[in-house]
Amino acid sequence: LESQFLRAQRMESIGTLAGGIAHDLNNVLGPIIMAVDLFRLKMTDPQDLELLETVSVSARRGADMVKQVLSFARGLEGQRTLVRPVQLLKEVQRIARDTFPKFISVDITTAEDTWSLLGDPTQLHQVLLNLCVNARDAMPQGGRLTLNACNQRIDDHFAAMHPEARPGPHVVLEVADSGTGMTPDVIEKIFEPFFTTKEVGKGTGLGLSTTLAIVRSHNGFVTVESHPGKGTKFRVHLPAELDDVEANHSEGGDVFPRGQ
Ligand code: ADP
Repeated sequence: LESQFLRAQRMESIGTLAGGIAHDLNNVLGPIIMAVDLFRLKMTDPQDLELLETVSVSARRGADMVKQVLSFARGLEGQRTLVRPVQLLKEVQRIARDTFPKFISVDITTAEDTWSLLGDPTQLHQVLLNLCVNARDAMPQGGRLTLNACNQRIDDHFAAMHPEARPGPHVVLEVADSGTGMTPDVIEKIFEPFFTTKEVGKGTGLGLSTTLAIVRSHNGFVTVESHPGKGTKFRVHLPAELDDVEANHSEGGDVFPRGQ
């Protein structure tokens, strides 16, 4: 778990580094493009103009590449709106039922709504769908895909065991399958970009690293429980957004102590 955490951290640093370099490169390319445009007005020799055109085209291509990297880095920031977890599960369930083979059942086991969370609905959608697609691929002979959402109170004890977890109220989104399961040596690598056990052309190995990047950008973390031959359960833990009503009238006295 520790090495998995360090690896995830390294991946995030690479993303941050790439974003930083792109930003600086933008500042370098801006003046070049401006100067070239100014020079063009002063030049008359066709050969000089042609040379200048080469510089201009290259600089603009560089600027486009920078824009792409920046939008990827910014993309992870996303928008933040109030998301109702069960609503999210229902949408994903509908897509899975419509597109997955009929020998895979797709059920939601949550009876009632959980706390809400602040996040980007499109990105969270993608997270759940990635997990569902993996679950589908793990059940080539059919099986059960189960979606669940529940509240989780992360205390200091839990946080001490999970380096990424912060104490406080969380919502847990669960995607469980009755598929092939994974051995510990596979689990260790699944969040690495480009790690895949699927045939060429079927898997890119980017599903779970993207999933993790999105979850981390929401200040959450992912846990995995898997048994070869039995199945796998992915849990996405995300900080809950408690409004005053929820905080004061939580059912069953399960109220968070203030200041936690
Ligand atoms: P891809 O799906 O393209 O292979 P992912 O990053 O989504 O890339 O997954 C990486 C690997 O993790 C998969 O190839 C598979 O070996 C393993 N994996 C992910 N989810 C499951 C699952 N629910 N059951 C079994 N193996 C899984």
